[in-house]
Amino acid sequence: MKKTILLLIIMLFGSAALKPADTSAVKIKLDGKEKTVQTIRKGKTYYFSLNDFSKQFGQDGKYSSKTGMYDITTKKHRLRFSPGSTFALVVTLKDTMRKSFQMVQPAVLLKNDVYVPVTSVTGPFEKVYGDKISFKVPEAGTRFGNDKPAKDPEEEKPAVKEDKPVKDTGNKEEEKPVKKDDEKKEPEKNDKQSFDGDIKKIEVEERANGTLVYIYFTTDKLPATTHKIVEEDDKKRIEVNLKGTGYNKELFAPKYGKGLVSYIDGEADGKNTIMKIGLKDGILSYDEDCNENKKFIRYIINGKVSQSKEPGKENWKFDVVVLDAGHGGKDHGAIGTNKTKEKDVNLAVTLRVGELIKQNMKGVKVVYTREKDEFIELVDRGKKANKADGKLFVSIHCNSTPEKPSTATGYEVYLLRPGKTKDAIAIAEFENSVIQYESNPSQYQELNEENFILVTMAHASYMKYSEKFAGILNENMSVDTKLKSRGIKQAGFYVLVGASMPGVLIELGFLSNPSDEKYLASERGKSDLAMSIYNSIKAYKEYYESVFEKKP
Ligand SMILES: [Zn+2]
Repeated sequence: MKKTILLLIIMLFGSAALKPADTSAVKIKLDGKEKTVQTIRKGKTYYFSLNDFSKQFGQDGKYSSKTGMYDITTKKHRLRFSPGSTFALVVTLKDTMRKSFQMVQPAVLLKNDVYVPVTSVTGPFEKVYGDKISFKVPEAGTRFGNDKPAKDPEEEKPAVKEDKPVKDTGNKEEEKPVKKDDEKKEPEKNDKQSFDGDIKKIEVEERANGTLVYIYFTTDKLPATTHKIVEEDDKKRIEVNLKGTGYNKELFAPKYGKGLVSYIDGEADGKNTIMKIGLKDGILSYDEDCNENKKFIRYIINGKVSQSKEPGKENWKFDVVVLDAGHGGKDHGAIGTNKTKEKDVNLAVTLRVGELIKQNMKGVKVVYTREKDEFIELVDRGKKANKADGKLFVSIHCNSTPEKPSTATGYEVYLLRPGKTKDAIAIAEFENSVIQYESNPSQYQELNEENFILVTMAHASYMKYSEKFAGILNENMSVDTKLKSRGIKQAGFYVLVGASMPGVLIELGFLSNPSDEKYLASERGKSDLAMSIYNSIKAYKEYYESVFEKKP
């Protein structure tokens, strides 16, 4: 199953799989004008060009190779697509509210232009253009947008969507009742008049260079808000007007002082609640966003990187290593050409590394995220690591290609950063796909570049240590093992996101390569690999302690 998904993703990334549809093209109607837009076709799915759409309808749309995103900006909204991602994001410029939509297929990059699958972009385009826009697919000739969406046979089984259920807001959007021109528009989820709920709870979370304030609500929608900075007696606060939200005095009894927030207070203002977020000095900026899926509005308060999250003098001792054997239980991970299961190799190597540390490194405690063949959710791996106050997080995995057997060989060391290459993204997709086995997949936010800004906030101060360890490991493994290095790479792995400490993910070798597989399954191979990882942890410990001994 995973093989199919990966293959599909790779096919969609590869432009070779896309052939121009010369005889038929997508037609788009906007403001009463219908135009034919440049179209490509993959299987039964038509993709249209965002550049051509923008040009033909005089819209401000462009792809930035720097950010890797395509933005169409109108007076009120920004519509954003990222090639390779199945998510479309609509930002309402006035209040920076965001809404994400999931498409069945990812957007595709072709020569500085981005193509999007016509049958699944109705939601985001309607959010921006209302009922003034409609789409017509070639051949079928079915118009949708205002009318009933055409059912594409291929899309009745949306493989990507089902297997990667990170968020489902887009699905709901697609399933909403069909609108007719003569019917009144349904109230939107954020309808200003209709909100009539209360605050359920307020949470404040600290990050390395900022503080996050979450407001959860009792209803299944979010209120409209306005927010501003108010300055009084040299002190600043953010004042948020939560429209139509009932005031609950008890919620504001705790003062929530944490990180850059000195207090949170509230007062009733007619039918609204005014929330005051007191700010400490050193605030650089703040931003508001929301997640309808999780029913919260969030304020992101950015400050200078605080020193407290850097390993401090009192806490500098390298005393806990967290070893994370990838997969386990019902999640086998990759399967080798000779049926070697990734979860078994991962666990065997991990336990050996742990044994070596216990025997040879006095004063260093080993914490495993799993010690046997069991299924552990990705978030729980991170939580366990954080609870143990780990100083280094090492996640151990094996690689595989979609086609087996294959000649791809060697090990890779990964750092947590937005994936830059097709292969790195595909590997992250595979390792992250474990969440399909989990009970609450929606707890993971999609790791697009946008979210990475938030996610990596927490990791900024660890990055130089992660890089150092990755460097040591990459060198050692080329000497200690039979495998060759494929380099230090970067990608978005949820398991690294959750652990608040320096960390790397290792792909030991390719189970899809019979020679790598034989080595990974052998006593010799497991022993070499474990010894090499152990040697690297030992060398890193020396580096780490030397850095902090020099500090005054
Ligand atoms: Zn894995």
